[in-house]
Amino acid sequence: MNEHTPGLSTRCVHAGELADAHGSPHTPIYTTTTFKFANTADLLDVVDGRKPGSLYTRYGLNPTIFSLEAKLAALEGAEAAWSFCSGMAAEAALFLAHGRKGIVCIGDAYGGTMELLSTQLRELNIPTYFLAGNRLDGLKSFLDAGAGLVFFETPTNPTLEVLDIRRICDLAHERGVLVAVDNTFASPANQSPLELGADFVVHSATKYLGGHSDLTAGALMGSKHLLAAVWNWRKNLGSALAPETAAQLMRSIRTLTVRVERQNATAQAVAEAMASHPKVARVLYPGLPDFPGHETAKAQMKGYGGMLTLDLKGGYDDAVRTVDKLTLFAIAPSLGGVESLATMPVTTTHHGLSAEERARRGITDTMIRLSVGLEDAADLIADLEQALD
Ligand SMILES: *Cc1c(COP(=O)(O)O)cnc(C)c1O
Repeated sequence: MNEHTPGLSTRCVHAGELADAHGSPHTPIYTTTTFKFANTADLLDVVDGRKPGSLYTRYGLNPTIFSLEAKLAALEGAEAAWSFCSGMAAEAALFLAHGRKGIVCIGDAYGGTMELLSTQLRELNIPTYFLAGNRLDGLKSFLDAGAGLVFFETPTNPTLEVLDIRRICDLAHERGVLVAVDNTFASPANQSPLELGADFVVHSATKYLGGHSDLTAGALMGSKHLLAAVWNWRKNLGSALAPETAAQLMRSIRTLTVRVERQNATAQAVAEAMASHPKVARVLYPGLPDFPGHETAKAQMKGYGGMLTLDLKGGYDDAVRTVDKLTLFAIAPSLGGVESLATMPVTTTHHGLSAEERARRGITDTMIRLSVGLEDAADLIADLEQALD
């Protein structure tokens, strides 16, 4: 982009859109799997990478996918972006391309990510290390042990721990190690990790980018040079995104900032109302001034997000009774959609961990994680109040 970079909302609407011969304001869906050429010389130009062009949809060489990827890159202010058939597919391709020397995961991460790092990658003899978010001083020893990639989420799931992106990038870059941030929870509307020094941003586009709980997709953003090494992994693992889903995701992204700004405001209102509720022991939300991560969040985020966690007084049974009494919040894992969701980490996202492991990560049996949707704040607060009473 030239001197004046358009604002994020403008980019959400216009970036990457393809002007077609019929004047469609949006990129059409090219469902075709293959594309024809006028002659062999033209074909070889594309096959050998001398000219950009469509070729075969599984390679991601499809006009609808190009268009989505230009929009995804613009969202994070990146030079390039690849789309994937899921967030896990994006992470897997990134880890296999850039993490083979070893990966350090800081803080809590998505369950699938944890399993991939601790099980499948180790089966391939890729060393993986886990470091608590409050033990950054220990990062040096893992980097000196030869790890080639640092990976983390912020805010994390489900405790909303806020990690200092710039500080971690400085520590890693001092030793020439690359940094990838999973920006799913914050979304590009609230946080721009590349501006804070990260080399890669990864997204489960299934969440805020998709925003309606009706599509599964992933994204990886970064420099052209670094993404080039991921290309063959995506191509030959067969993890590109379908053009139909690419078009659906583009439609969602056009409203990203409007949705997320409202979700930020509603989550703040819910967090403040719950903070003074007699049955609530603690509200974990980066937008509350007394939350431990608040100052870091204030410095590196534009908004505090639509995710919060309530830790209730009483025991596990009380928390289950509360969740089961909710009528507007649906009992479901996942996040980022227009409908509000409630889930207990102990029964869903962190069910597979031992009680000791959950305790070590600060996850209690009385936590309820909320993904705030687009309903009215007053209705969501009333639903929580009736369930708590
Ligand atoms: C959901 C999620 C993922 C995995 O994404 P899928 O699209 O389900 O593969 C990764 N990271 C975070 C933070 C998530 O919430």
